[in-house]
Amino acid sequence: MPIVAATKESIAPAAEALVNGEMVAFPTETVYGLGANALDAAAVTKVFACKERPRFNPLIVHVLGLDQAQSYAAVNETARKLAERFWPGPLSLVLPRKRNCAIADLVTAGLNTVALRAPNHPVARALLETAKLPIAAPSANRSGCVSPTTAAHVEAELGELPAMILDGGPCKLGLESTVLGIKGDQVTLLRLGALSRQEIENVLGRKLAMHVAGGKVSSPGQLSIHYAPATPLRLEARTPRGGEAFLAFGPHAPLYAGPMINLSEQGDLSEATNKFFAALRSLDAIGATAIAVMPIPNQGLGEAINDRLQRAAQARLPSPASRFDDARTTAPKRPSEATLDAMVRIVGEDHAIREPAAMAPYLVEWRDRYVGRAALVLKPASAAEVAAILKRANETRTDIVPQGGNTGLVGGQIPFESGHEVVVSLSRMTHVRDIDLNGNTMTVEAGLVLANAQAVAASAGRLFPLSLASEGSCQIGGVLATNAGGTAVLAYGSARDLTLGLEVVLADGRVWNGLKRLRKDNSGYDLKDLFIGSEGTLGIITAAVLRLLPKPAEIVTAFAGLSHLESAAAFFTRAYALAGPMLTAFELLPRIGLDFVLKHGAATRDPLHSAHPWYVLFELSSQRDDGEVARLAEMLLSEGIEAKEIDDAVIAASLAQRRELWRLRELMSEVQKHEGGSIKHDVAVPVARMPEFIARANQLVELMIPGARPVPFGHLGDGNIHYNVSQPPSMDRAVFLANWEALNAAVHEIVLDLDGSISAEHGIGRLKRDLLRHAKQPLELEMMRKIKNAFDPYGILNPGKLL
Ligand SMILES: Cc1cc2nc3c(=O)[nH]c(=O)nc-3n(C[C@H](O)[C@H](O)[C@H](O)COP(=O)(O)OP(=O)(O)OC[C@H]3O[C@@H](n4cnc5c(N)ncnc54)[C@H](O)[C@@H]3O)c2cc1C
Repeated sequence: MPIVAATKESIAPAAEALVNGEMVAFPTETVYGLGANALDAAAVTKVFACKERPRFNPLIVHVLGLDQAQSYAAVNETARKLAERFWPGPLSLVLPRKRNCAIADLVTAGLNTVALRAPNHPVARALLETAKLPIAAPSANRSGCVSPTTAAHVEAELGELPAMILDGGPCKLGLESTVLGIKGDQVTLLRLGALSRQEIENVLGRKLAMHVAGGKVSSPGQLSIHYAPATPLRLEARTPRGGEAFLAFGPHAPLYAGPMINLSEQGDLSEATNKFFAALRSLDAIGATAIAVMPIPNQGLGEAINDRLQRAAQARLPSPASRFDDARTTAPKRPSEATLDAMVRIVGEDHAIREPAAMAPYLVEWRDRYVGRAALVLKPASAAEVAAILKRANETRTDIVPQGGNTGLVGGQIPFESGHEVVVSLSRMTHVRDIDLNGNTMTVEAGLVLANAQAVAASAGRLFPLSLASEGSCQIGGVLATNAGGTAVLAYGSARDLTLGLEVVLADGRVWNGLKRLRKDNSGYDLKDLFIGSEGTLGIITAAVLRLLPKPAEIVTAFAGLSHLESAAAFFTRAYALAGPMLTAFELLPRIGLDFVLKHGAATRDPLHSAHPWYVLFELSSQRDDGEVARLAEMLLSEGIEAKEIDDAVIAASLAQRRELWRLRELMSEVQKHEGGSIKHDVAVPVARMPEFIARANQLVELMIPGARPVPFGHLGDGNIHYNVSQPPSMDRAVFLANWEALNAAVHEIVLDLDGSISAEHGIGRLKRDLLRHAKQPLELEMMRKIKNAFDPYGILNPGKLL
């Protein structure tokens, strides 16, 4: 049993163990350290091995004070000033290594800097004085796990591996030291910690530069994945959900019958810091489904707590490699040449692609986020050909990826990198089978491009109202498989609401003819609704009966500038109350998005005279051409201005002006490409909570990626926001995009906390598959899996997507 009470008697053998190249765990005022002689490479190797710590991650060396520090590092005036003020204490300084510095290279991970700290704990100081050595000591836990704040924590994690664990009671501060890098005059905050940023800035008399996350590790404590409990964390949680443990903060924490620790009922951040790691450990031990963590104010020591929470949450995200592994019970295998040849014969050589170069357009999605490989691309011409392909695939367990116009934004239509899947493109199935003007329906094949479907309806004097910015490429099959939304959902609903019947080829090759034209059919389960939104995982849609509507005779489009986001929700309520079903679109745009459009979009201009923080673009439509909607629009705008909900507005005076206004909205997504990397979220929250969502998400972005630029826009009337975030202008694109999953996870936590959805209209696909498990109730997932197994028992349809 290596735990020994830290007394004068036990310090001497502990110091001797260090001199002899052993490891000793000891308390500091921050956390317990796992110490070794910093001059002895073999001893330090033991620390890396015991912690399973990556060798590129340097260690902090503990010294008695400035005199000893100067033996190993160049201490300039700035460093001296800080050390004199904060040493001994929770501050580590990363300084240039002296030429003759005797500290082992392993300690500094081969860098030309060394991290030094003078601890303030009496046991740590007694150990340093007695051993007369610099002690390299990271936290005494396995790499990536929660830092220990008691001797018992150390023992639970490292057992008998250290020669001794000196027990000096619980650590006073409970959080690691703050780490500063000093290069000449420049001081960079490398890790937030137990000494607050403000205290340091007060001594320096200036703001600290902040280390940008990502890239090469240049000091201890920079790994983005760290300090993580085994239980997943749900950040920004205002209320816990059943089965969760709850880490609360402050006097307004909700009552919870489940396991709960309040870090500080008084809202005291020092107390919270002190209890933080120990509380995480206790809640982790409970075996809850997740630890829900209340928002912690991001100021003073709260910054460091939030930093650890972010890293801990990131550590629970599954690695991309794990995604495909558990998609099915058998490993994907390459189909035999005989199977591929047989499939090619079904469509004919001219409609099959085998060469990788010719396949390329089918293997990459429009943002280049996913690039896959395939054994074959097939372009069948009929439901019978699709049926023959699926029959063969089911018999040979060949994985199939259905593809429409390849405009999906969640990677569902792109095969994985194995190269074993067969892509089935519906692009040749473009026939309009029937138009029924009495019944107001049209029956079309799945490969018909949406814009062409709209044109067919228009030429028959009807409206097919589904409208997306990708309508020039996306196909009816893809639109139905993703249950696409767009700008007209407010009045006409999403793809599901516009579909009366389907023809679907099942996984085993049988064809279900469900092409009914009925508005009413209560004869059992609605099977078509299962396939709509199933993203190619239950069957391949080959044709659909779509609803047609009367063409509007009068449309009025208006664009208004607003000072406050809150007014957008109020103005929407007013518009809906006044216009009801005549309100056919209500879109939100932020000024930054308009700036991007005006900067990068050809032939665009600001429709208003001055800049406004927010804009809404809305449309009123009527079947009668009697000026009613124009009068209504004017009344609405003047009421809105009087109520101070909007500041200024313009009404399109011609079709050309109407198109110009819509172009501002339609370019919103595309122009972000010119501003560097963009991390996207397609989420829905109740309309009234939209301002709260955007405010909380913006705060989070600033916390996680300072300087990043949120561009929230979208279908306000549906509560659907595309919460896109453009990179900080000076940041490397790849470094920024490395935050994608962590930011997604954190933003989605806010969404779920507001009773929203992590996918409003783009679907789940590959991008959000792991998130789905977190966002859905276990019972919902169980029902979905049962449906999948019933329709596709061998899992050949789009495996690794959605479920
Ligand atoms: C600029 C831009 C703007 C967009 N705006 C919107 C928007 O406002 N609202 C919105 O909802 N979406 C939007 N999207 C997303 C996208 O356009 C839609 O998801 C669209 O419905 C996809 O159709 P697609 O034919 O391109 O399908 P694909 O991208 O080819 O496939 C999408 C999914 O459907 C499956 N699939 C395709 N065809 C079939 C079929 N016949 N049978 C079974 N499964 C099939 C695929 O396997 C995949 O899982 C936008 C995309 C872009 C690029």
